[in-house]
Amino acid sequence: MQVYKGLNYGGSEWTPKFVASIDPEKCIGCGRCVKVCSQGVLGFGYLDDEEEDRMRASIANKDKCIGCRACGMTCVKKAYSFEPKAV
Ligand code: SF4
Ligand code: SF4
Repeated sequence: MQVYKGLNYGGSEWTPKFVASIDPEKCIGCGRCVKVCSQGVLGFGYLDDEEEDRMRASIANKDKCIGCRACGMTCVKKAYSFEPKAV
């Protein structure tokens, strides 16, 4: 599979990995990831649960993701997964 690649400031190639999913079982709704995303990709929402309505992070605007993975690095619950983009 060929994937999208970019260049860093020094001109070296790198492969961005874009946000793919947030595990609702791991997310505790702390909001750190939403604050750290500079692109407005993430939002908060209620997850319908049989026992409770729980606030959780959500992927609201995936098309804006630049693949920086800052959200995943700030998440203490390791709820994020990422993937490169096929071209
Ligand atoms: S940082 Fe992790 S635990 Fe906190 S809201 Fe985001 S996904 Fe959920
Ligand atoms: S990878 Fe970067 S741009 Fe994409 S959702 Fe996470 S923080 Fe936002």
